[in-house]
Amino acid sequence: MFGRKNTAHWIQKTHLLRADEYICSACGRRFDAPYEECPHCHRVMTGADYDPSWVDEAEFLDIFDK
Ligand SMILES: [Zn+2]
Repeated sequence: MFGRKNTAHWIQKTHLLRADEYICSACGRRFDAPYEECPHCHRVMTGADYDPSWVDEAEFLDIFDK
């Protein structure tokens, strides 16, 4: 324990048609790589959660084609 509470984690968004994004759980800024700390709010990142948003995008494209 370091007594630090200013940590956060990345929410990894994977897209079909563009590069992955990493969204800071604290400030909501998006970045193109999972840095050790957020470049915006400077919280130390403890890890990343996977958000499979490409599934929704795939369903959207499937509907769009019909
Ligand atoms: Zn942040």
